Amino acid sequence: MLEKRIQGLWLEEDSLLVNTTEISFGFLQSAGLRITRTEFISCPTCARTSFELQKVLHEVQNHFSGMPGLKIAVMGCVVNGPGEMADADFGFVGTATGKLHLYKAKTPIIKNIEPSQAVEKLTQILRQYGYFK
Ligand code: SF4
Repeated sequence: MLEKRIQGLWLEEDSLLVNTTEISFGFLQSAGLRITRTEFISCPTCARTSFELQKVLHEVQNHFSGMPGLKIAVMGCVVNGPGEMADADFGFVGTATGKLHLYKAKTPIIKNIEPSQAVEKLTQILRQYGYFK
């Protein structure tokens, strides 16, 4: 009984330590003091957005979250998206037809990507630029 109680306390302590560490890294990353994971930028969407931005954003976050120092954007439209993601390394920008352009910094490098192909195309590009071996 006592042994189980002690094990329970250790587990609680471990969970607390993990949570505290994650929160601390989150603050440091937000402040730009310690970058431990990929940064993602996206817009709040509006009437100009013609694709499922949240779906694409989640897919991109799930696949590329462990790349410290890399900034990836998913923006709703070509009207304001490129300007608002100016400091991203790579970014998807929605077009009026529901497709995406993939930018490297301020330059579109692949046009008219189906949203379902976003992760695959970015993987190819990151490999091409040496982010993956
Ligand atoms: S980037 Fe385009 S879609 Fe996103 S909020 Fe701004 S204007 Fe709307």
